[in-house]
This record gives sequence, structure tokens and C-alpha cells, in this order.
Amino acid sequence: MRIVVVGGVAAGMSAASRARRQSPDVQVTVFERGDWVSYGACGLPYVIGGEVEDFGRLVARTPGQLRDRDIDVRLRQEVTGVDATARTVTVRDRETGRTLTEPYDRLLLATGVSPVRPPWAVTSLAGVHVLRDLPDGQAIEASLEGAKQACIVGAGYIGLEMAEALSTRGLEVTLLEKGPEVAGRMLDVGLQRRVRAEVERQGVDVRCGVTVEGLTGKEGRVTGVDTDGGHVPADLVVVAVGVRPNTDLTRAAGVRLGETGAVAANDRQETSVEGVYAAGDNTESRHRVTGRAVHIPLGLTANRMGRVAGVNMAGGEARFPGIVGTAIFKTFGLGVARTGLTQAEAEHAGLDALSVDVDSTDHAGYYRGAAPIHVRLTAERGSGRLLGAQLLGHTGSVKRVDVVAALLHRGGSVGDLFELDLAYAPPFSSVWDVLLVAADRAG
Ligand code: FAD
Ligand code: NAD
Repeated sequence: MRIVVVGGVAAGMSAASRARRQSPDVQVTVFERGDWVSYGACGLPYVIGGEVEDFGRLVARTPGQLRDRDIDVRLRQEVTGVDATARTVTVRDRETGRTLTEPYDRLLLATGVSPVRPPWAVTSLAGVHVLRDLPDGQAIEASLEGAKQACIVGAGYIGLEMAEALSTRGLEVTLLEKGPEVAGRMLDVGLQRRVRAEVERQGVDVRCGVTVEGLTGKEGRVTGVDTDGGHVPADLVVVAVGVRPNTDLTRAAGVRLGETGAVAANDRQETSVEGVYAAGDNTESRHRVTGRAVHIPLGLTANRMGRVAGVNMAGGEARFPGIVGTAIFKTFGLGVARTGLTQAEAEHAGLDALSVDVDSTDHAGYYRGAAPIHVRLTAERGSGRLLGAQLLGHTGSVKRVDVVAALLHRGGSVGDLFELDLAYAPPFSSVWDVLLVAADRAG
């Protein structure tokens, strides 16, 4: 059994490792077009910000360690074609330009996503970056030398994490967002405003509702960003305006894309073409709250899909359970978490939803270090079915979002949440934890 994996980061490497453990008889080959495999892209903003000492710390396993485990890792090898009838892939060696044809019995497409680059961002000016992979992080680090003013375009996950990282490195930061508020894809409006207020309080110049018109440069290096609201001087520009799934190979293989534009796969990660599997950021999943296909490209989802694909490709039986849209990030001292649906998303899905907001402290107010926490809990009117939660609070406190995520997986109600025996002692929570207070109010 020859298993070929395309893409060697989260989904691809999880699949390769899992297939190897599932069966000693399979032959596992991973083709990665870049220089790096098996690393945590999620850590990139923290290396740039100086929280993590170097990029090498993000590597989970080196190619040598993977080869020791009998996984044939081939770097700088780009898969350029798939013949699903002959069951072969065409691979181009990026160093020599030579191509080879490799047979497979099972093929996994774990090709991830690419950052969106608006036309103005396609430039040869130095100092203009996206942040997707490890070399992007290294390039930003190199551009920091002598840089004083950064302009980040896009106030989503990467924009908000990088606002902190670049401020920490001493740069003046301007954050430009085309939508009416920051974090627009993650939170309801009131919470978006709170995130913006915190980022502004930290000295970031946040400008929303802005259209970028172009970049300016001098002697080959960026000098600023032209917008419909004026010129923003910058010697470092980070473009973080979203991602789109890498689907070229799927099209070549005749694999069906889903309604989200990402690859459609069943819960065994099988695509519409026999013998071809898909996993990770390039693949859509089923949202357990709405039952609909969604494309929410995140780390745990990629790893889990890869694991499921690896087991199944090697002859085992595993199923991807779907997701509930849980996500978390921090910007400066503020932790932001969400799961399920926001009020706006619930309404968009045609649900009759209500939300309650609770402001409290993350632990007993009389115990040192108590910090504000805000919970917005969303439920279905009438039935009380939990639909989602959004939390803002001091960094780690918002991880309690996982309690709601667990209930969402099981179709729980606000009554179920209110009944939970949650841990309590003054340094950790109030006796009635803020989640219980929210559940009581929503019930
Ligand atoms: P990718 O990581 O994109 O890997 C795909 C690989 O396939 C790439 O290395 C690419 O070179 C290779 N490839 C593509 N096409 C070919 C081809 N034709 N031939 C050979 N190789 C090919 N998620 C979270 O849940 N939490 C976080 O805190 C978080 N932080 C993040 C921070 C940053 C800065 C970034 C960029 C992402 C973050 N994510 C986070 C998202 C997370 O990193 C991704 O969900 C995860 O990396 C997806 O893994 P993947 O294997 O599906 O795709
Ligand atoms: P994103 O979708 O989170 O945010 C993009 C932002 O850019 C949005 O607010 C959007 O309105 C804005 N935008 C779009 N076009 C624009 C334009 N022309 N001008 C100005 N603003 C514009 O995408 P991202 O921040 O690029 O992150 C990419 C992916 O990385 C995310 O989808 C997520 O999967 C992953 N990620 C996750 C985490 C985390 O979970 N903590 C952290 C970093 C990255």
C-alpha cells in the first residue's frame, strides 16, 4: 500500500504519522514544496513578537526524525498534477526543475490555504509581507531591522496578533480594516468595539471602513500605504486579509469542491474521487450547530482531519466528528474566544436566537488580580438550545469557552450549562462562575 501525502505541515504530517502507526506495511511519502515540514504556524506571531526565542522552536519534528520513523519526507518537491485514473502524481523538483511520476494507492491532499493578495499587494517592493508560513515569518523578522512604522492591512486573527507583536518590538502600528470594525468575522458588533478599544488603548492607530488604494515606495522599499482616507507612512507592511483554499490539484484530480469553495470530503476524509482524501485548511467541514458545510481553517481541525485520513488510508476506521466553530486568540493582554454561532451568525442561519451579556470578574473580586471578563451567551429562543458563546477577558480566562464548546458538541441547552458542577475557589473563579450566571440569565 503506497500512501502519498501532498503538504507536510499540520494535516499532512498528522496523516503521515498516523498512517505509519496504524500499519507497519504501508509506505508513506510526503511531498512538500517548501523547506519546512511539521511545524506550528500558529506560533509565528510569538516568535516575531519575541515571546518565543526562534523559529526553530516551532518545529515539532525535523525531516530527519520523520525519516527515522520510516516516513519518506521530500522537501522542495511540488506536486503539479494528479492522474486519478492511473493513480499517479507528477512531482516537480524545485531545485533541479526535473519532474517525476509517482504512483499511489491512496493520495492525501493536505495543501492548506494561501493568503489572499489584493492586486495592490502584488509587488516587488521590499518590506511588504504576508504571514502564512515559516519563511514568511523569517522575512518579516528580517524586515524589522531599522523599521519604525508598520501598517497592517486586515484586522482579523493575524492582524490583531501582529498588532501586538509589532508594537512589542517597538514599532508604531497602524491597523487598517475595510469592514466597519475589527474582528468582524468572529464576534458580534458590541464585542468587536471592545476589542478595538483595547487595541487603541495600547497605542495602535486603528482605522476601520478604509479602502487601500495602493502602496508607495522609494528605492525598491515600501514607504507607505495609500487609502481613501489618506496616506499612511510605513516601512513595514503586513497584508492579512484572509485566505483561500489551495484547490488547483483537486481540480486536476476531478475532486468535487463544496459550496464553501473548499474541498468537499465525507467524515472519513474521502473526496468524490476514489482513493483521494483531503484534510486540513483546504477542506470544508460540517458545523454541528447548523448542520451545514463550513470552511473554518484552524489548527486542531487540520490535525484531527489529518489523523482521521491517516487511519483510514492505512486501512483503519476513523471518523471526523465535525466542528462547532471554536476559536481563540489574544491581542495584547486581551483574550478573545468564541464557539458556536454569534447572534449575527445565528440570525443569518435562520435561527430565532437571543443573546445575554454578562460583565463580571474572572475570579473572586476580593482575590488579587481579579480582571474583567465579558460573556455573551447565545441560545435558541423557546427551546433554550445553546447556540454559542463569545468571551473577552484577561488572556487565559477566556479558555472557559471550552465548557460551552463541549455542550455544543452534545446539543446541550442553557439549562444543561447552568447545572454543571464547575470548579470553584477564589483564585480561579467566582462561586457562580460567569458562565453559570450567563446560563441562568439566558434560561
Ligand atoms: P498548511 O499549514 O497551509 O500546510 C500546507 C502545506 O502544503 C504547505 O506547507 C504547502 O507548502 C504545502 N503544499 C501546498 N500545495 C502543495 C503542492 N502542490 N505540492 C507540495 N506541497 C504543497 N490556528 C489555530 O487553530 N490557532 C492559532 O492560534 C492559529 N494561529 C495561526 C497563526 C498564523 C500566523 C497562521 C498563518 C495560521 C494560524 N492558525 C491557527 C492556522 C493553522 O496554522 C492552520 O490551520 C494549519 O497550519 C493548517 O494546516 P494544513 O496542514 O492544513 O495547511
Ligand atoms: P481573517 O479572515 O481572520 O481576517 C481578515 C480581515 O481582513 C477581515 O477582518 C477582513 O474584513 C479584512 N479585509 C479583507 N480584505 C481587506 C482589504 N482589502 N483591506 C482591509 N481589510 C481587509 O484572516 P487572517 O487574519 O488573514 O488570518 C488567516 C487565517 O489564519 C484565519 O482564517 C485563521 O484560520 C488563521 N489564524 C488563526 C488564528 C487563531 O486561531 N488564533 C491566528 C492567526 C491566524
